[in-house]
Amino acid sequence: MDGLPTPLRCFRDGHSAESFVDDGVETVTSVEQKKVERSIEEVITVYKQIHSLPQPTLLREQHYQYLKKGLRHLSDAYECLDASRPWLCFWILHSLELLEEPIPAAVASEVCQFLARCQSPTGGFAGGPGQHAHLAPTYAAVNALCIIGTEEAYDVIDREKLLDFLWSVKQPDGSFVMHVGGEVDVRSAYCAASVASLTNILTPKLFEDTTSWILRCQNWEGGLSGVPGLEAHGGYSFCGTAALVILGKEHMLDLKALLRWVVSRQMRFEGGFQGRCNKLVDGCYSFWQAGLLPLLHRALFKEGESELSCQRWMFDQQALQEYILLCCQNPNGGLLDKPGKSRDFYHTCYCLSGLSLAQNFGNVDLHREMILGKEENRLAPTHPVYNICPEKVAQALQHFHRLPVPDDKTQAGGPAGDRLPDPDAASNAQS
Ligand SMILES: [Zn+2]
Repeated sequence: MDGLPTPLRCFRDGHSAESFVDDGVETVTSVEQKKVERSIEEVITVYKQIHSLPQPTLLREQHYQYLKKGLRHLSDAYECLDASRPWLCFWILHSLELLEEPIPAAVASEVCQFLARCQSPTGGFAGGPGQHAHLAPTYAAVNALCIIGTEEAYDVIDREKLLDFLWSVKQPDGSFVMHVGGEVDVRSAYCAASVASLTNILTPKLFEDTTSWILRCQNWEGGLSGVPGLEAHGGYSFCGTAALVILGKEHMLDLKALLRWVVSRQMRFEGGFQGRCNKLVDGCYSFWQAGLLPLLHRALFKEGESELSCQRWMFDQQALQEYILLCCQNPNGGLLDKPGKSRDFYHTCYCLSGLSLAQNFGNVDLHREMILGKEENRLAPTHPVYNICPEKVAQALQHFHRLPVPDDKTQAGGPAGDRLPDPDAASNAQS
């Protein structure tokens, strides 16, 4: 950056030409799409009126205050998330690490103690103390503990029981149910692969047939669906692809078809991403969709693709930053889906994660920044497989790889030390 304000894409004359054309056929979704574009147009117009120098600003201090308060106390509005309390820990802690705000040792210790109470006696973590173990809060709890990254945090995780829990949700076809007696979808394969790889309990037997099951989720659109045969969706596409990266099998996807699908999900007018074809823009897909681009970049690089850029991802990084900074910030802190929606910790986490991806290209060896606005907008990089900061991934892998893989009781006669994958493969996933 040369210190001059970057000309904003949404200020350009041609920007309005990017708006939706319904070809004279009005439908429920075309009406909604036009409504969203009008609300964004309004935001841009007001911004133009009050800023002679367009320098979109990340409201760091406001977001920090909002997050800090959330870690201590949640309003009654969060009662409905009583079964997602480890998620709240993860969303808030990850947002804070992206903002490079340290977590006080006493607070970190309290979070560890709370998550320990969410750990089920049968292994894995539940949405709250005394509830049943479930793969989603298990993923969130392990990520939150790895972000804290202290011995106390690592020691919370009972790895032997965690492996028992993963076996209890494994299905004969290679898929996983979210909890015992629960539903199957590709989120579960990702949550299982993520926690197993971070904590060094990943065995080939545990993920037998998982690759072929995930591959069946990629459909004619190019993206992945929750289970084979359904509509492609951003969250599921990320989960399936990231799981395959952990298992070292992402090359088995139709990478170009996935690339085509995901880049078509970045909205021409809004700059943010939609989750599915013909849906509205939403800030949280800044991570679930844009997060696929680093995974695809690396996968295509490994395939020997010669046309790859060494400067930028294959999406419009500036347009996404404009959408997040202009349309997704609550002036009192916290981020959101789209103008007119209210803030919450989920959207705060995934808008900031997406902003970080759009600002940071590459990995530690090859790193290029593209920060829209002032230098103070800079966020820490995030690991595109685990969505925690890369040094926290490396630190967790280092810690848990000193410990032996627990005896996989269900594994009949597998050779000792026959493990998947190479941990470096996952930690270098940005390359
Ligand atoms: Zn959303």
